[in-house]
Amino acid sequence: RVKEKWAATRAKHPPTSLALHHFDAKYSVQLGRLWPSVRVALLSERKYGALLNNFSSDAVLANLQAQGCRDFISDSDAEAQSCPEPESEVGADKQEESSDGAMKKSDVDDQQRPPFLLSRNINCAVFPRGDITRFKPARPDMQGLLGYYLMDAASVLPCLALDVQEGHRVLDLCAAPGGKSLALLQTQAVRFLCVNDSSVSRTQRLRKVLRRYVPKEFLTDENIRITSFDGTKWGEIERNTFDRVLVDVPCTTDRHSLTEDDNNIFSKSRTGERRMLPKLQVELLLAGIEAACPGGEIMYSTCTLSQIQNMGVVEQAIHQAQQNHGIHLEVVDLQLVTNMFRKTFHFAPDLHLGVMVVPHLAANFGPIYMCKLKRMT
Ligand code: SAM
Repeated sequence: RVKEKWAATRAKHPPTSLALHHFDAKYSVQLGRLWPSVRVALLSERKYGALLNNFSSDAVLANLQAQGCRDFISDSDAEAQSCPEPESEVGADKQEESSDGAMKKSDVDDQQRPPFLLSRNINCAVFPRGDITRFKPARPDMQGLLGYYLMDAASVLPCLALDVQEGHRVLDLCAAPGGKSLALLQTQAVRFLCVNDSSVSRTQRLRKVLRRYVPKEFLTDENIRITSFDGTKWGEIERNTFDRVLVDVPCTTDRHSLTEDDNNIFSKSRTGERRMLPKLQVELLLAGIEAACPGGEIMYSTCTLSQIQNMGVVEQAIHQAQQNHGIHLEVVDLQLVTNMFRKTFHFAPDLHLGVMVVPHLAANFGPIYMCKLKRMT
């Protein structure tokens, strides 16, 4: 063990302490009386979800259920039942009672699809509230494909709410290491998926993830394109093309910044980079907006609580899209998501733009912020 008082290499103000100091100053104002409990959760061990791999032949869900997990997505209907559906969600999944009395989603004919639904076929297992059991590492099936991918369960929400429909062309602009790309592929509805990340090394990790989870036959040039471009330039490459775009931007990654000194955005040497984040985020979101086709939808997401990086960025991007590109956007109401999943996640109250999962000791997921935009022109 290193004797701390003699350890010459230990920074006087490690980046994790700088991050905590920064968050205390900002979030105590932004979140008010919520901050102390969010703070405790952020400093405690996070909870994972197991994104089920539909490409794997193993009966993974049954196995996880036997260990006490539940699929929070298929288990969400009962939650939505107990809350009134918002008016803007007319036509959202109808419920019907099955013979065993449980509420099930009825199959909605694609022809009669309402304007907003969740992406289908995504399943994610979690341990119950307050249960901090860790998942065992996923095992390969007969084809060598892993049965589940461990990620923050709240990270699945932007993919679910993106509402990927049959035949869609989808762009994941900042995709590495690939958890959300994998969730999008689970829908088995995507006609063409373009996954991009400007970091070459992280793109390598993404390729590896896809190889561990998706059959070789599926990873063809016809189905999927993997690139390492600067996403801010996407509007110059491919405009008005994609039905759905996910813009999961680099941010202050609040949880990581509080727990890991390595590669920490609060280290002194990265101050400039950190200050430039909102500008980069606006540029990425604008590029994603340009890449979407008129009528297409764009999901902006982060894993920070920061108002500037969340709502601030969305407001600026909406303004600049109109001013500089003549693109009119509407914000899609995500109230349905909070209604459906409030048994699993804690959501920040009263956001005027988008929704945010806030960490809580009994359900230590997030932070995840998301806001969905629809291109009207
Ligand atoms: N969506 C990923 C997932 O679910 O696994 C996580 C994405 S992470 C929050 C943000 C990513 O943005 C990082 O992998 C980073 O390399 C990438 N990035 C940073 N600047 C970028 C840029 N200008 N263009 C594209 N990607 C960028």
